[in-house]
Amino acid sequence: MELHDDLGGQVALVTGANRGIGAEIARNLNDLGATVYAGARSMNAEVPDGCEKVLLDVTQEGDIDAIADGVFSEVGRLDILVNNAGIGEFGDDIVAEPPSRIDRTLATNLRGPMLVCKHLVPLLVQQDGGRVVNVSSGMGQLSGMDGGSPAYRVSKAGLNGLTTYLHGEYNEQGLMANAVCPGWVRTDLGGEDAERSVEKGAATPTWLCRFTPGNPSGAFWRDKERID
Ligand code: NDP
Repeated sequence: MELHDDLGGQVALVTGANRGIGAEIARNLNDLGATVYAGARSMNAEVPDGCEKVLLDVTQEGDIDAIADGVFSEVGRLDILVNNAGIGEFGDDIVAEPPSRIDRTLATNLRGPMLVCKHLVPLLVQQDGGRVVNVSSGMGQLSGMDGGSPAYRVSKAGLNGLTTYLHGEYNEQGLMANAVCPGWVRTDLGGEDAERSVEKGAATPTWLCRFTPGNPSGAFWRDKERID
């Protein structure tokens, strides 16, 4: 697989980049030389050194519109979009799932990335080899959807659907869209018992960001292996 070793001159946006896996992906992309815009819901949030903080709550189309029309139309390019922002509230089956949790989860994990793509895909397809990396979960893999947390599972299955859609619609224009399960990672979402460090969790998402034109697209990955 051909990979970019140096992302100098390239521009990336990572959503939810103030903590957890998103912060680590942003840090990695900055270390590889990209100009990284780190999405945060508050301008008081801290983002990794060297990254440019942008106000971005993915449930707020106004925020998305503002960065598309502001920062990115000024910069004039976007090479890498990482839809990482997400929430996870686990446990109940569908009978017990509160409607408010269904709304919140779908709004953040599915509608959010859809709106971000709606506003930024036009810029991504101007590059040959623009990349969308959707941080999904094995809990959203259609072949293993049992085990509770239906809102979260369906939100991630939907995100995988968005990935397939983007590939089908835009790959001919050079866009690569891939989804990735980071594994079970020690973050606020994953909890302290999780097996993986954020460094390990961010490794495959970062690897997908390094894809060069013609690499695989429309796929679902874990540990640099295609799982769907
Ligand atoms: P964290 O809880 O550590 O971080 C979540 C990030 O998403 C924070 O930056 C948070 O911002 C941001 N966020 C939440 N809601 C919004 C919103 N509406 N708009 C913008 N940003 C938002 O989670 P992880 O780092 O563990 O998770 C990152 C991604 O990885 C998620 O999509 C998650 O589903 C996925 N994942 C994680 C796994 C794990 O084991 N940790 C396993 C499988 C998938 P704020 O600080 O403002 O809340």
